[in-house]
Amino acid sequence: MLAPQRERDAFVQRQIEARGIRDRRVLDAMRSVPRELFVPEDQRAHAYEDHPLPIGAGQTISQPYIVGFMIEALGLRGGEKVLEVGAGSGYAAAVLSKIAGEVFTIERIGALVRFATDNLAAAGCSNVHVRHGDGTQGWATEAPFDAILVSAGAPDVPPSLMHQLKVGGRLVIPVGKDPSTQELVRVTRTSDGDWSYEDVAGVRFVPLIGKEGWEDEVDGWQERAPRTRTRRSAKP
Ligand code: SAM
Repeated sequence: MLAPQRERDAFVQRQIEARGIRDRRVLDAMRSVPRELFVPEDQRAHAYEDHPLPIGAGQTISQPYIVGFMIEALGLRGGEKVLEVGAGSGYAAAVLSKIAGEVFTIERIGALVRFATDNLAAAGCSNVHVRHGDGTQGWATEAPFDAILVSAGAPDVPPSLMHQLKVGGRLVIPVGKDPSTQELVRVTRTSDGDWSYEDVAGVRFVPLIGKEGWEDEVDGWQERAPRTRTRRSAKP
């Protein structure tokens, strides 16, 4: 059974709005998505708590506040074509789908692709497309995108994602060579060959693993070297 609407309203007021998220589109979207549909059954009682929750395969559904913060940082106005990297449970894609026109989300772990697909169907999000693969290389056949949200921490900004942004488009991504202290970075494509960069918050995310991210986990990701070594200020 779904939580009553007043519980979602109170959750958004207390955890999202009271902490400074002001974009009405983001607040309305978060009020409308039942988060309990995006967590495993044994976590449903905790769906509206103020922290990440396990979703299996060693991954998490992010803390609700950081989902709201990252989506607000994308500056969506409605109707956009959006790419998300790291579908996980599908929750962030569901929130995005209430604002954007179409959402494309990629997940590298097969079990989570199925989990996200089922959850999005249960929530009636028909404008979300889920794909299994390495999201560090984006979704070339659907590019360019108005906005890209990366829901896992990268050693640097993947050049493929920068090139799949429209001019004027925004990419929000956690970046850090030291896995314990990532910066949430907003990259704006200002022309065909230029991008601007802003640090918008300190965050801590699970690793973005892939060709333009971290190497695969062997003994624990914190000891792995980054595969890409481009400077954040450099053009890709
Ligand atoms: N947005 C998700 C949600 O709402 O539940 C939470 C994402 S979780 C914090 C990060 C996800 O990124 C994990 O599911 C992980 O498997 C995925 N991931 C890591 N590297 C990836 C890659 N290269 N391509 C696609 N997904 C990746």
